[in-house]
Amino acid sequence: QTNLGAEGGKEYNLSQDNELRFEVENNEIVQMEIKEGLAEVFGSELMKNRIYKFASGSKIAVFTWQGCKILLRGKTEVAYVSKETPMMVYLNTHAALEQMRQQAELEATRGPKVMVVGPGDVGKSTVCRLLLNYAVRVGRRPTFIELDVGQGSVSVPGTVGALLVERPADVEQGFALTAPLVYHFGATSPGANMKLYEILTAKLAEVFAMRCKTYSRIAQSGCVINTCGWIKGEGYQSLKYAAQAFEVDVIIVLDQERLYNELVRDMPSFVKIVLQSKSGGVVERSQGFRRFTRDEKVREYFYGFNCCYYPHSFEVKFVDVEIYKVGAPPVPNSCLPLGMTPEDNQTKLVPVNPGPEIVHHLLSVSLADTKEDDLLSTNVAGFIVITNVDMERKTFTVLSPAPRPLPRRYLLLSDVRFMDIK
Ligand code: ADP
Repeated sequence: QTNLGAEGGKEYNLSQDNELRFEVENNEIVQMEIKEGLAEVFGSELMKNRIYKFASGSKIAVFTWQGCKILLRGKTEVAYVSKETPMMVYLNTHAALEQMRQQAELEATRGPKVMVVGPGDVGKSTVCRLLLNYAVRVGRRPTFIELDVGQGSVSVPGTVGALLVERPADVEQGFALTAPLVYHFGATSPGANMKLYEILTAKLAEVFAMRCKTYSRIAQSGCVINTCGWIKGEGYQSLKYAAQAFEVDVIIVLDQERLYNELVRDMPSFVKIVLQSKSGGVVERSQGFRRFTRDEKVREYFYGFNCCYYPHSFEVKFVDVEIYKVGAPPVPNSCLPLGMTPEDNQTKLVPVNPGPEIVHHLLSVSLADTKEDDLLSTNVAGFIVITNVDMERKTFTVLSPAPRPLPRRYLLLSDVRFMDIK
């Protein structure tokens, strides 16, 4: 490592199979450049002499199979080179999945459906990104299924979704979010409504299976499913449910032997379950940081990466929309109407009257045309945030990625909130 002075930055010489890990300090930007050799960030190849910029809070690993020289400029919270990484294991996993894809091609069947599980902050999303990148780099078109409602890398937090991956993730921005398929969940933990979470999991599995029937290349490429870090009790049940719904072939368990053993016990024998260690580089995120990244995710939805979009703000009349919340508050069994179960309550559409309490809330604009369409399992066109409610004039003001009018009448209220200030 050579220090080139404040402006010049710092140079790092990496030997083969090493990784430079760094975190960007608050309110800072770090610039990175590959001066010699070849390197990648979470499976996306880097170009030589291009300057990559990473925003405040980014936690990055630059890995090299061959050795390289990297220049970093800007304030990092930490920056160090590690020789110990699980990258070889992940590459071998990719090779095994690739064999399964080749087999699927020969037999005209479906390629590997892989689910990545483990507690929070073990690098699940990163492993998904890596496997998807490696697959697309060898010409596959894998599907990314996001079941983690907490961060929601396919859309905003409080949603689940699917994304066809057609090119490697952009090093700075992640996967291109062109036309993802997104469903409203409305909260950042599956526990908020387990029944709805199951319905949406099943819906995604069904839609993916249908796409596979139509497009053999998508079928043979398989999918990579990211899951929530909630692995106990009902969280574990939801993992089993997802495994069944998608008929997964492979489950990668990161860093949790107990979860591994439970899955080996509970899954049918044709499901291959592998235990892999997490990377020492994965950083634990505090509650505060999670909140920050959730907020950034919503901001990015409206304002684009590096504020490249201008969202619209306009008024909507109360009479032009219908707002619903999915699920009525839990009530004791004895209070439920005859023949109803608590589960029915979870799927109930509860009308919401516009009022000051919905200000700052995120709302999904459902693609449903009529209320007879199943609002729960219809995907969403996009999202708006309520920025003001005027009870006298019976209108509210929204922040929207598209100009007025709203494309549909039905809105679903989310617990996720966003304050449009910076
Ligand atoms: P999970 O999905 O299990 O919650 P993530 O994949 O989101 O975990 O990883 C947590 C954080 O650690 C992310 O900010 C990610 O960029 C970072 N990270 C992952 N792998 C590494 C690594 N090898 N070096 C440095 N940071 C990493």
